Amino acid sequence: MRIVLSLAFLRKTIENITLYTTLVLLCFDVAYAQDDNLIAKLQIKGELTQGSALIGMAPKASVLKLNNVPIKLTDQGGFFIGFGRDAALEQTLRLISASGDTEIQTLVLTKREYKVQEVNGVPKQTVSPSKEHLKRIREEATLVKKARANVTQQSAFLDKFIVPMKGPITGVYGSQRIYNGVPKRPHYGLDYAGPVGALVYAPASGVVSLAHPDMFYSGGTLIVDHGYGVSSSFLHLSEILVKEGQQIKQGDAIAKVGKGGRATGPHLDWRINWFNVRIDPLKVLKLSEELP
Ligand SMILES: [Zn+2]
Repeated sequence: MRIVLSLAFLRKTIENITLYTTLVLLCFDVAYAQDDNLIAKLQIKGELTQGSALIGMAPKASVLKLNNVPIKLTDQGGFFIGFGRDAALEQTLRLISASGDTEIQTLVLTKREYKVQEVNGVPKQTVSPSKEHLKRIREEATLVKKARANVTQQSAFLDKFIVPMKGPITGVYGSQRIYNGVPKRPHYGLDYAGPVGALVYAPASGVVSLAHPDMFYSGGTLIVDHGYGVSSSFLHLSEILVKEGQQIKQGDAIAKVGKGGRATGPHLDWRINWFNVRIDPLKVLKLSEELP
């Protein structure tokens, strides 16, 4: 008798658990609908791969999060997302509407293979810096960090980017660099070879956030802020034609090619950052081709 009662109780309990589980799952399903169309809904353009950039437009008054970190939207809802060289291949995008509904989509990035590039003949001190040089390197890194942290609310980052100069590409994003036989950090820029003095043009409009005549690794260095954390950096310059705080327009001549810092010869090294995330300028140019 006692056993039968216990079994009936057990059955009831299991039924209840099943019911509650179903209810909880149903609620979860409603609140967190897995929406494969989030990319379409947000009008996201760009390649889902490491080092890439995405541009999109979110509905007004909504909140957009990448891996739970809110992404700043322009007044119209425009946004930019950048993925680092070795970004995790699964990224979670979350859209919370003004009414509180949440939609989630996992962005699956493709893995990229990067080249190994040997660069011989750079100045010896730039491969094995002295104590004094290390101090200078740290100070300059702080200046660059500060310049990139200065985020303005201009929407130039949503525009189509253009190439900053014509010339053969001699270095690409992501390649593992070996300088004078010593493995160093990967290369994050896009290198264009050109003679000293060749003009560099603004790939997009923006505000000059750093203009430094001679940095240890990068020589004449210029950073242009395109808004919402997106910035361009130009390295190894022989001359900078603009001043810090100056508003510049796409296509303006902003600097001249040089060979200062860790370089074997005259070239422009163009980099693009999304906050501290270094992204591939070639992917940004490719994305620009997709834009209307
Ligand atoms: Zn370079």
